[in-house]
Amino acid sequence: MLILGIETSCDETAAAVVSDADVGARLRANLVFTQLEEHRLYGGVVPEIAARSHLERIDALVAEALREAGVDFADLDAIAATTGPGLIGGVMVGMMTAKAIAAVHGKPFVAVNHLEGHALTARLTHDLPFPYLLLLVSGGHCQLLAVEGVGRYRRYGGTIDDAVGEAFDKTAKLLELGYPGGPAVERRARSGDPRRIALPRPMVGRPGCDFSFSGLKTAVRHALGKLESVTPQDRADLAAAFQAAVADVLADRSARALARFQAETGQSGPLVVAGGVAANATLRARLSDVAQAQGTELIAPPMALCTDNGAMIAWAGLERFRLGAVDGLDFPARPRWPLDSLSAPTASTPA
Ligand code: ATP
Ligand code: MG
Ligand code: FE
Repeated sequence: MLILGIETSCDETAAAVVSDADVGARLRANLVFTQLEEHRLYGGVVPEIAARSHLERIDALVAEALREAGVDFADLDAIAATTGPGLIGGVMVGMMTAKAIAAVHGKPFVAVNHLEGHALTARLTHDLPFPYLLLLVSGGHCQLLAVEGVGRYRRYGGTIDDAVGEAFDKTAKLLELGYPGGPAVERRARSGDPRRIALPRPMVGRPGCDFSFSGLKTAVRHALGKLESVTPQDRADLAAAFQAAVADVLADRSARALARFQAETGQSGPLVVAGGVAANATLRARLSDVAQAQGTELIAPPMALCTDNGAMIAWAGLERFRLGAVDGLDFPARPRWPLDSLSAPTASTPA
């Protein structure tokens, strides 16, 4: 089975071809064009610029992905694309491209929820059966969910304010570390002392599995305000303090969720992390400790498959398609589309 996947929901234009071969032989092509330079000047993603840029590149990127995979449109079993959630202009570009290919070549179209793409990525790279506990940490989302199957998500908790990626990006801006924020904070934190400046640990020790990050960002602003002049070492120390606080919060919440998951399923784990922030090495190390302390392991996709890519969309499309899901060409683009509102694919999924 060969699936083409298209991703255009934010600032990465991406196309990939995946197969249902054994782990290790599934990725036939995975091309990502990042629009970083086009948005850097504005310090964030500009939706209109993103949509136009997706439109300019998507056709060539799809052609290149097919070439690299050594396949033609005729060889594909289905065409998958992100239909939400995300910036609607960009989502439209990728979704319409996929629908046009499907219509012209007489192939099934599969609508993919971007978050389900993140949620199932670990099954592309690992032999990972359901269920598992998922910590989804990305630019727009921060959630803990029990993943019971394709389309079957039970939410344990989520952020009550900012997403964790958003907190990284805003903190990077405050610290003037450049764009994009997450990788910049991680890089600068390496030369910082996480203990010099004390930051709060919002929600730690509280019942439930919710998160809060806006107070942490405000605490960074206050700490900056107290410094007479801000030196590069101050920035490094604050970046390290922020990253350590985020890791503590995510570790505490994940430990709680894991205990609940174990009680509910009778299974020890595993704990799976996904989304752009899962590329953070400090976080991965902490989560691995949490999993081990509770008798299980952490499974994390390789860094390049944590941030947005086409392979995750092609793979989620494959998982849905092999369960019988096909979507109509009238399937709508959805700016908002929560993971726990999905349902398991059935042989005749309505649009
Ligand atoms: P969503 O998936 O919620 O719709 P998105 O697609 O924009 O949002 P992703 O591409 O999954 O988000 O992740 C991007 C986020 O990950 C950004 O906020 C970025 O700062 C963060 N990020 C990327 N690399 C790292 C890192 N090494 N450390 C911390 N954060 C990181
Ligand atoms: Mg991005
Ligand atoms: Fe994403």
